[in-house]
Amino acid sequence: MAKKQVYFFAKGKAEGNAEMKNLLGGKGANLAEMAKLGVPVPPGFTITTEVCSHYYQNKRTYPKGLKEKVQAALKDVEKLMGKKFGDTENPLLVSVRSGARRSMPGMMETVLNIGLNEKTIPGLIKLSGDRRFVYDAYRRLIMMYSDVVMEKAAGIEPVEDQGIRKQLEKIMGWMKKEKGCKSDTDLTANDLKNLCSLFKAKVKEVLGKDFPDDHNEQLWGAIGAVFASWNGKRAVSYRKIEGIPDEWGTAVNVQAMVFGNMGSDSATGVGFTRNPGNGENQFYGEYLINAQGEDVVAGIRTPAPVNEYSKSEHNKNLISLEKAMPKIYKELFTVQKRLERHYRDMLDIEFTIENGQFFMLQCRVGKRNGPAAVRMAVDMLKEKLIKKEEAVMRVTPGQLDELLHPIIDPNAEKTHKAIAKGLPAGPGGAAGQIVFTAQEAVEWTKQGKKVILVREETNPEDVEGMRAAQAILTARGGMTSHAALVARGWGKCCIVGCGALQVDTDKKEVHVNGQILKVADWITLNGTKGNVYIGQLPMMDASRENIILNSFLKVCDAVRTLGIRTNADTPDDAKKARQFGAEGIGLFRTEHMFYGKGSDEPLFILRKMIVSKTIEERKKALDELFPYVKKDIKGTLEAMDGLPVVVRLLDPPLHEFVPREPAKLEQLAKDLNITMDELSKRAEKLHESNPMMGHRGVRLGVTYPEISRMQIRAIFESAAELIKEGKKPYPEIMIPVVCDVKELTDQIAIGREVYKEVLAKYNLKKIRNMFGTMIEIPRASLVANKIAEVAEFFSFGTNDMTQMGFGFSRDDIGAFLPDYLRKGILPKDPFQSIDQEGIGELLKIGIQRGRKTRKNLEVGICGEHGGDPDSIEFCHKVGMDYVSCSPFRVPIARLAAAQAVVNN
Ligand code: PEP
Ligand code: MG
Repeated sequence: MAKKQVYFFAKGKAEGNAEMKNLLGGKGANLAEMAKLGVPVPPGFTITTEVCSHYYQNKRTYPKGLKEKVQAALKDVEKLMGKKFGDTENPLLVSVRSGARRSMPGMMETVLNIGLNEKTIPGLIKLSGDRRFVYDAYRRLIMMYSDVVMEKAAGIEPVEDQGIRKQLEKIMGWMKKEKGCKSDTDLTANDLKNLCSLFKAKVKEVLGKDFPDDHNEQLWGAIGAVFASWNGKRAVSYRKIEGIPDEWGTAVNVQAMVFGNMGSDSATGVGFTRNPGNGENQFYGEYLINAQGEDVVAGIRTPAPVNEYSKSEHNKNLISLEKAMPKIYKELFTVQKRLERHYRDMLDIEFTIENGQFFMLQCRVGKRNGPAAVRMAVDMLKEKLIKKEEAVMRVTPGQLDELLHPIIDPNAEKTHKAIAKGLPAGPGGAAGQIVFTAQEAVEWTKQGKKVILVREETNPEDVEGMRAAQAILTARGGMTSHAALVARGWGKCCIVGCGALQVDTDKKEVHVNGQILKVADWITLNGTKGNVYIGQLPMMDASRENIILNSFLKVCDAVRTLGIRTNADTPDDAKKARQFGAEGIGLFRTEHMFYGKGSDEPLFILRKMIVSKTIEERKKALDELFPYVKKDIKGTLEAMDGLPVVVRLLDPPLHEFVPREPAKLEQLAKDLNITMDELSKRAEKLHESNPMMGHRGVRLGVTYPEISRMQIRAIFESAAELIKEGKKPYPEIMIPVVCDVKELTDQIAIGREVYKEVLAKYNLKKIRNMFGTMIEIPRASLVANKIAEVAEFFSFGTNDMTQMGFGFSRDDIGAFLPDYLRKGILPKDPFQSIDQEGIGELLKIGIQRGRKTRKNLEVGICGEHGGDPDSIEFCHKVGMDYVSCSPFRVPIARLAAAQAVVNN
């Protein structure tokens, strides 16, 4: 490990900088950066993440020399502060905080006020002239230290709600009641002094150890606890969900304490340089006078708004910082603006005011939900703060997905009255059954239920339940409370601070304005407005009219080079996809017209065709089928007017269209006017042992050329009619499941013949078209050079390619895939994300060999992978012309294609 294990920082100088997140963690790196910029930060130092790795690799011990380095850095802090750690006259107090590379809100530990003990208390009282403040700081230290260091880091797992912190909170609650105090601040110095004694006795009773009175023991206990918290239960679950590697480790920041609880000219607060809930370019924040940082987040006192903009239903009567301390507000405002310009991103900041002096405690790139991310990217691009390549990287595919998520149908919402209102912490709508614990949320969701987690307030132990739930509703907490932060990070619908709720977790009920809701009752949340409704309101899609979303996607379009098409099988889907920005259809599966709404008649004729005994009978049935096929194709070509539409000839084996149940077979026999015996014989003949590799795709066309002929005629006649109507249809006829060029030659010959006939019939010179093939059999990739002699385009069918490349049946994978994933044999489901190592090679070979023969061969992908961001990046890298995915994935594909350009 590197020699340097400790990095010092103080206003105007720092050994680290914002680039060093891997070593110093996000918090440490940003403290260093702020210090460098001359922003007032309390002096301190960061112990590196390498020390954390060493700690875990060496049975929880520190590298040699660390103690001395920490002592030396502490000396420098003492010098700057003019105080001494552990000094009886002029004691320095420090905070010890965690800080990983990526922020893990509330998942790891912090201990404040370290250095307070029986010896230093009198000195600090003299110095501050405020006994109450000192005993308040001491009781906080005992609470945090016993919880974080003596219980959690020691691996003690108390029964739920029986942890030491909860027990101490109970004592405090009891004392407040006894003294008739409404708020913590009503407790007097003597009350707090007594409370500290009670706390210490309780700590001894519950944990069997004295609360340490030695300042150095406190410091090292806290440092060890922060390192230990990296492997705490909450942090481990959070990392799993967020995909953060276990090896990263956390840094530890030791910093001089500044106090927001030194009286009425002290305060503490948190803010965002822009609104993280909707992205508006407005400074947004909350603060509390005479309080320490934890009070703002804990939701015990309602924080006041920093300015007019930050006012809400909840805090509108509280005095803003702008009014209460105008000079300080100005300083804060200037610093946050300056930091945002410097970092060129929205920041989440923490500040403290000690006796009228302003300090920044933290800044980091702020978490935001999808709508906010999109808006900020668009705005910052307009403000020339960022370039378009940066703008597209500011939104993750997941965040974009949030904008495509449902909202409550506005018409239904109009007719319902909200039963309660809270703060809109996570946008969109959600309906679900009430559950009261994180565990229930996880279990019920596993059973396929939709749940809403209702809590007094959430804490980091609830993360898995919060993740599982459709939405989160809390009675307490502000926009910066735990629930709000976490939900926002995930883009989950969430309402916090819904004061009308009285949650009784034990009884599993919640009282709301005179009504009682019980576990499993349905509620619906509007997380954008903060409204709670009883019952299950209908949802609808929100994306269509979103102007900001559209301008963001246009930025993506300007960056990407990959085309985006859609897989659509009906004119309606085609229209929808076009609205989402699809530039054509990459796969129109003809067979889909035989399923679903309105398919009865064509399906019946198709069946008639399938069971026909002679070619004449079959041809007659095909003639009958023709108008149906033509209608859907024409409608789709029309919806995509001017854009290419890949129409695939019939792919599934014919037996798939014949019913299996005896009753249905009998009915069919009756309808077809043949005997059951005859029908059964026909059906039996169609039986295949392995239909996925059986008589399907081009093989059908080879056996029954009249089926191909009918379909191709439908395509060209549709196009011809549209041309006559002044439209610009562009069909690309695609032949599936090809493994050899001769199959294709056979089918294309039929196609060209039909083409000539249609030209003559409509008296046209030309219909723009292409004949091409799917490459979905490994052999087809290997002989792609030959196939490209006749194919004018390739479209990779990665569903079948994965199936045949792996030898995994698409339909039977459920039996073993979960074990493969659990055991890490496969990193991901290869049917969702392209297996780049294996199947990816087959694609590369196919492209290279195909383009060797035909330089400008059009190449796309139409398997399910076409909507998966990682696979899209792969398609970009291997030089495909387009990806094709389902209509709702089109916006995500536009973003992923743009990010692929920036990443490469
Ligand atoms: C494929 O195989 O990838 C494909 C798109 O075709 P289907 O899923 O219809 O077999
Ligand atoms: Mg296929």
